[in-house]
Amino acid sequence: MTQNDGTRTISHWLDNKPFAGTSGETAPVTNPATGVVTGRLALASVEDSRRVIDAATAAFPAWRDTSLAKRTAVLFKFRELLNERKQELAEIITSEHGKVVSDALGEVTRGQEVVEFACGISHLLKGGMTENASTNVDVHSIRQPLGPVAVIAPFNFPAMVPMWFFPIAIATGNTVVLKPSEKDPTAAIWIAELWAEAGLPAGVFNVLQGDKTAVDELLVNPAIKAVSFVGSTPIAQYVYATGTAHGKRVQALGGAKNHAIVLPDADLDLAADAMVNAGFGSAGERCMAISALVAVGDIADELVAKIKDRTVALTTGDGTRDSDMGPLVTKAHRDRVASYVDAGERDGATIVVDGRTVQPNGEPNGFWLGPTLIDNVTTDMSVYTDEIFGPVLSVIRVDSYDEALDLINSGPFGNGTAIFTNDGGAARRFQNEVEVGMVGINVPIPVPTAYYSFGGWKNSLFGDTHAHGTEGVHFFTRGKVVTSRWLDPSHGGINLGFPQNN
Ligand code: NAD
Repeated sequence: MTQNDGTRTISHWLDNKPFAGTSGETAPVTNPATGVVTGRLALASVEDSRRVIDAATAAFPAWRDTSLAKRTAVLFKFRELLNERKQELAEIITSEHGKVVSDALGEVTRGQEVVEFACGISHLLKGGMTENASTNVDVHSIRQPLGPVAVIAPFNFPAMVPMWFFPIAIATGNTVVLKPSEKDPTAAIWIAELWAEAGLPAGVFNVLQGDKTAVDELLVNPAIKAVSFVGSTPIAQYVYATGTAHGKRVQALGGAKNHAIVLPDADLDLAADAMVNAGFGSAGERCMAISALVAVGDIADELVAKIKDRTVALTTGDGTRDSDMGPLVTKAHRDRVASYVDAGERDGATIVVDGRTVQPNGEPNGFWLGPTLIDNVTTDMSVYTDEIFGPVLSVIRVDSYDEALDLINSGPFGNGTAIFTNDGGAARRFQNEVEVGMVGINVPIPVPTAYYSFGGWKNSLFGDTHAHGTEGVHFFTRGKVVTSRWLDPSHGGINLGFPQNN
């Protein structure tokens, strides 16, 4: 795992050890800041996938019956190890994703929040009990784990997104198969090693590396009882349709196009700071990034000027150096994002800051695209209609709040949104009227804290359960209600009528 010269093999993980797989197929893993191939990822065949799923299946009965106290003790140990060593994980993320190390550390810390939430799972697994619901009859409810579950992750948060799910899945007694993105798969192996060190029994947490072949096996294999997917909308739709058709519980979080509305009474300096942070952090490769700024009324010129001043001061470079923003994840993705800037220019938008000409603090073959600010964007331009997933902030000018709200509510996505205003009444109206799952009021990236649940509306989430918080606990468990009466001669007798409480 340590050599970084392109000969390193990144394998699967089952039964608490690496598994090379048998497919013989590999894919290159690249450092986006240098363009250099740093390793080869084993791509699972159907047989490899089954082997990993079998390990999770074999481990389930014992893990399910391990006491809550013992399960929680392992969670606590994992949390302690992660807290001590998260810098290592952050550096791995930077080396394959490209985001700056401080941002990678932030992602790990947000993931750690869910581990901490899961450490208190015993409180959330408590059922209800009613004594004497009928004469001498008691009723109680319990929640039980589902079995082996799959987590299929995107490239943009190789640690945090899996951690939205697996701490809760494991704490509630399930076993897990994590399928990381092919672009940054090493974080998952580091996490698997940490679980083993924390004392998690073999087979409870497994990693299956691969592409569509691995995903498809997870979706159809009857041993897998639930699938948590995060990625682009077309794949989320496919995963939801296929997984549910095979009888699984599925939550499939999809893409986004997040708008921020700035009302005329907002503090424009704070709003400009927020737009830059939310538009260009992690090079815009966040599902909660703001990519569309809706400026209401006559503030647009002043606001755009403030954002421009801040944007030109940003540094783009290698995430291990002192940069504000790193490269994009692959060359293909960098070129795709740049092509949207080209299209916006062709369509008549104003390129206020042009990231295509950035001078990076990094190697020439890195996948560089600087922060890009585009004004006078209209709703028919592809730079507006499509999820770009890069450091491109579009400004749409409108005359009224109603027009701004309509833009958001008529769009296909509903992941995150924000409003900037000093008017409490306007903010309250917005939170009530906007058709989006996560809303920020003067907060640009309103990612809910772990004990609330994360998830969007419309094409940003397929399924009815959001991630983590009590909804996450619900997703990874199923309810059972037990009605009991202990032997008593007075209960004898024949009665074919439907049982009634009396
Ligand atoms: P992606 O859809 O390309 O990949 C996600 C996962 O699906 C990966 O593990 C990948 O291996 C797998 N996959 C890819 N093609 C597949 C296919 N044809 N069949 C089966 N599986 C396939 O997404 P990405 O590029 O890795 O991540 C970026 C996307 O994820 C963006 O659209 C972003 O908005 C979204 N995202 C959403 C959220 C959210 O919470 N809603 C969070 C993070 C990222």
